Amino acid sequence: MAIDQSTPTPDARPLKPLRALITGGAGFIGSHLAEALLAQGATVVAVDNLATGRYENIAHLASHPGFQYVFESATNETVMDRLVSESDVIFHLAAAVGVELIVRDPVWTIETNLQATEVALRLARRYRRKLVLASTSEVYGKSAAVPYREDDDRVLGPTTKSRWSYAESKAIDEFLALAYHKQFGVPVVICRFFNTVGPRQSGSYGMVIPRLVAQALRGEPLTVYGDGHQSRCFCNVRDVVRAVVALAADPKAEGEIFNIGSQEEITIQALAARIAARAGSPPEVHLIPYEQAYEKGFEDMVRRVPAIDKIQAAIGWSPTISLDQTLDEVIEHFRLSEGRGA
Ligand code: UDP
Repeated sequence: MAIDQSTPTPDARPLKPLRALITGGAGFIGSHLAEALLAQGATVVAVDNLATGRYENIAHLASHPGFQYVFESATNETVMDRLVSESDVIFHLAAAVGVELIVRDPVWTIETNLQATEVALRLARRYRRKLVLASTSEVYGKSAAVPYREDDDRVLGPTTKSRWSYAESKAIDEFLALAYHKQFGVPVVICRFFNTVGPRQSGSYGMVIPRLVAQALRGEPLTVYGDGHQSRCFCNVRDVVRAVVALAADPKAEGEIFNIGSQEEITIQALAARIAARAGSPPEVHLIPYEQAYEKGFEDMVRRVPAIDKIQAAIGWSPTISLDQTLDEVIEHFRLSEGRGA
């Protein structure tokens, strides 16, 4: 395998040069993963229908000889069949993401998340390929038992609140991946991402950091939902991608779930102040009630912190990039995009 050959194991398959298929490859995380894999000598096929991904995320890779972009939905089984057959490993990132999008378009969210994963797993079984599944900290729901451990119980709201459909759809994806592993021996690895952030993340689907940075740079008040006391841990996408690549290369990770996130916890109110200070904008905040920001009865989680001892023990991973550094990168990215008229 082209990735992490430092500790070869007897059952490691000789995959060099690695041919990676990334569903959602033009998305925020997918595009960074493509870069990391190409840098390690892999060839990369990115499949994306640009529903939430953006071609500009991968435009700079178009001339790379090891990179190919396919404009297609990951739910198209005919096209996916060929792409999976020609790959060694599938990084299945294609999904509906972003709380705002989920509340706005629940049918598309549920159908996309279930169908694309069904297709990817069926094909991984057919061609006996490794499948790395992108999942989410949303599956823990509103459990108060922080930090969240991979085998913790989940606490979700009722089905009448569409926010929880995202957590359920990704949880079914996890169940299905683990079932394919147990029943058919498909080598799957499940990554639960916790608030991944960095350059190229779009604010269009609700994500707080790109939204607040854009507001700060426009000199507008920062929109903080609820009372702003809810907290999150934001992890730089480059740290996240490093973890995903290492887990994909480790046979011991197969059939396992891993939290991938930072433990640097911050309230959204403090985040807004930090962004304003680093962007050099006035620290003016507008508190917006949840029901106005999302929908009536919207439920948010008060704290969300990952336990990361499992991934530390497995591959020695921990985040290396601070929130301040990430915020500076995002601010710089927005300044440059504005300069390009984006
Ligand atoms: N949020 C906010 N202002 C915004 C967008 C989001 O205060 O403009 C809040 C949101 O309600 C949540 C937190 O920021 O409490 C993180 O939101 P995000 O959508 O980035 O990720 P989540 O943790 O909800 O998956």
